[in-house]
Amino acid sequence: MTVRLARATTKVRVVFLKTEPMAVRMKTKIVLLGPPGSGKGTQGEKLSEEFGYVRMSTGDMLREAVRKGTDLGIKAKGYMDSGALVPNDLIINLMKEKIASLAEGTGIIFDGFPRTVEQADALGEQIDVDLALNLDVDDEELVKRLTMRRSCPQCNAVYHLLYNKPQNERFCDKCGSVLYQRDDDKEDTVRNRLKVYRENTFPLIDYYDKKGKLVTIQGVGDINEIFDKVKKAIQ
Ligand code: ADP
Ligand code: ADP
Ligand code: ZN
Repeated sequence: MTVRLARATTKVRVVFLKTEPMAVRMKTKIVLLGPPGSGKGTQGEKLSEEFGYVRMSTGDMLREAVRKGTDLGIKAKGYMDSGALVPNDLIINLMKEKIASLAEGTGIIFDGFPRTVEQADALGEQIDVDLALNLDVDDEELVKRLTMRRSCPQCNAVYHLLYNKPQNERFCDKCGSVLYQRDDDKEDTVRNRLKVYRENTFPLIDYYDKKGKLVTIQGVGDINEIFDKVKKAIQ
């Protein structure tokens, strides 16, 4: 991995990025906004693969905690099963620790965090967010995507049975694990998650817009074409 020095307007940052030409100007602390199913995981994974960002997905962390039966997992499970948000204090403590464990200047993609204004305020106290990337997708498309999403329990890759098929329907292309359907990707829970998104997370679009950090990208269409737009936004 190449370590580059990037000069921002006020301070020098070390950015852990793999590619050369864009590295000097690239944003290092990026929040992916957008409703469940808008492609945050898909685009975040591509950014991480191509440029070496650390992807921090609170959803992946919570599912791992549930699988391992940790204290956090036990507390979070009921909320996740119903599509509700896990309480702010649990999430904020979790993320504070994770962020503090990374070297300053590490390029980070936040996927699924913050999801409330309280979480966004807490994040802002710890780091400066450079960019909030909002993926815009309408509800009916989101339902189609989520109900046919398949996820890898091992490496967290995501697929879609029609739009983004694995080579073999049952197995992860990247690590060979058996794919599964998340319990909260059933239609009733999906609709509840969309409602929870509108009430709690949607206001963050305005929140980051007011700070001059927001870029909205249409999240419908070819995954690679969307990725091209994402790459432009992070420069
Ligand atoms: P999020 O992390 O925002 O919940 P995902 O990245 O997991 O979203 O994507 C949700 C589902 O939609 C997955 O099944 C994924 O393969 C699929 N998907 C992602 N981007 C697109 C796209 N541009 N067009 C069609 N399907 C997509
Ligand atoms: P999606 O990729 O479909 O947007 P996630 O994997 O990010 O969903 O989240 C799954 C579930 O985990 C959420 O429905 C919620 O219960 C919980 N969760 C994830 N991130 C947060 C967060 N930042 N705050 C509160 N709850 C969260
Ligand atoms: Zn995998």
